[in-house]
Amino acid sequence: MSYLVLARKWRPRTFDKMVGQEFISRTLKNAVQTDHVAHAFLFAGSRGVGKTSAARILAKCLNCDEGPKPEPCNECSSCMEIEEGRSLDVYEIDGASNTSVDDIRELRENIKYLPRPGKRRVYIIDEVHMLSKSAFNALLKTLEEPPEHVIFIFATTEAHKVPETIQSRCQRFDFRRIPRAKILERLQDMAKEEGYEIEERALSSVAKAADGSMRDAQSLLDQIISYCGTSVPDEAVAEILGIAGREYFYRISEAVLGQDPGACIEALDEVYRSGYDINQFYQDLVEHFRNLLMVRLLPDPSSVLDMADGEIEELKNQGEQAGPEDLRRLVSILLKAEEDILRSSLPRMGMEVTLIKMAHLGRLEPLDRILEKVAGLEGAGGSRPQAPRVPSPGPPAKKSRPRQTAAPSRSSDPRPPQEEDRRADAPEQTSPRRIPWNAPDAWQVFVDTVRSERAMTAALLEDVEQWEVTEKAVKVFCEDGTFLFDQFRSKETKALLSKSARDCFGEAQRFEVCKTKGLNDSKAKPQAKKEQVETAPPSAPSAVAEAEEDQAVKTALEVFHGTIKDVKLFGSESGENEETES
Ligand SMILES: [Zn+2]
Repeated sequence: MSYLVLARKWRPRTFDKMVGQEFISRTLKNAVQTDHVAHAFLFAGSRGVGKTSAARILAKCLNCDEGPKPEPCNECSSCMEIEEGRSLDVYEIDGASNTSVDDIRELRENIKYLPRPGKRRVYIIDEVHMLSKSAFNALLKTLEEPPEHVIFIFATTEAHKVPETIQSRCQRFDFRRIPRAKILERLQDMAKEEGYEIEERALSSVAKAADGSMRDAQSLLDQIISYCGTSVPDEAVAEILGIAGREYFYRISEAVLGQDPGACIEALDEVYRSGYDINQFYQDLVEHFRNLLMVRLLPDPSSVLDMADGEIEELKNQGEQAGPEDLRRLVSILLKAEEDILRSSLPRMGMEVTLIKMAHLGRLEPLDRILEKVAGLEGAGGSRPQAPRVPSPGPPAKKSRPRQTAAPSRSSDPRPPQEEDRRADAPEQTSPRRIPWNAPDAWQVFVDTVRSERAMTAALLEDVEQWEVTEKAVKVFCEDGTFLFDQFRSKETKALLSKSARDCFGEAQRFEVCKTKGLNDSKAKPQAKKEQVETAPPSAPSAVAEAEEDQAVKTALEVFHGTIKDVKLFGSESGENEETES
């Protein structure tokens, strides 16, 4: 027996077996059941989504010996003849090769005869948009007054090319692209039934490459089977499809999240040597990182991911290594690199640079882990065996007058000593302190209040370069579109910050995020941290050297990958404060 291609063998023979077009199936079944079948249909949709299959099923429903009925029996002589393309009542015409007016005239002659032995004459014209203008005009006359026994079903992949006059006389159905998960499900059934050994991930690649077309999916599977036999290794699928195997995407994302640029470059090199199309690879990689982001963001990602459950699990496992903000930034870097990769004469280098950038980006995150380390350090701080003795470069800092709005994150902490003590003795203390908005340490108290609520958000505040505390509001200034800007704008964070602002400065206070461009505005006089740093007096070299020797400082430098920029002394007992820069 000759080999019947899968697309033909597995063509749906009832409406219930059609995949991904449930709405259309139901409507057509109802139309037959209630005897409200139109005289002309337009089936629009991309290739391989079931248009001609639906047309044939409808023809069988109408002409079935037991019919008309909403599903054909597929056993009577009428059903069999239609199935095998030898029915005298059902004509399939290829619009692409019968485009002339003469063809349509012949059709019109033909229409006069009554169906025999069936009940309706059904004309299925595929790719109807290919008909010539005169052919359409000839057809129009028939459509205006169709004989009772005639039904036209036009199928087209380009509905916009079908004249309005024709369209307006048809009942139109738009066939959807078939969701990837449904194609995959169907492929799995087929593989099982046919006795093929193919892993789900390989079938998933086929379903993806088919891009919504069941027929394409089946043809690809045919190709793969004729190349490999019935046992198909994953790599063979990737090779035939000309796509990089999924393992490469996982390797690269693993390397990016593990901050290993070297491993990224190695994986990319293999992709190149395997001869994969780099444009396709880039697009698939963007999709892969986007998928990682989705599984991290959504409780039920299957609604947007259109992939098998096993794959989603795999994504989840890997996605756990990073926070949603990390992944969003990675996707964003990839998207921004499009120009550098797709339109470059050196796409490989564009890709390499992008991957290295991504791998390095990961080093800044995740914030919560850094904060954990900070908390660990602070906890250890109380029982530090030897507080370093750093010689003062100048007179001891005046305890009673802290410098206004110095940068809190840089540990050149201007807080009055009593506050320092309070923190060292009882770091968990959370009661907010109400102070006037124009108090010299207003910003610091605000940040501390926020910290007592959520350390993560306080850390964000410490990253802010410019801020302002006014009678009415605490304002931070960030560049539009940056990570910080987005974070402060998020509903939850803003609510927390507003609450802290009220706790510190009274009920009338608000929290505002302002775009940096408003800086030149004379009304806004945000205080810049930068100036403070620049005006700080340089440390004596000996102070730096001594600080470098201190064990606690060493640990801090290690955790933050920092260097000592400045050493300041606060009182005789409170020890050192180093500027660290990561
Ligand atoms: Zn039948």
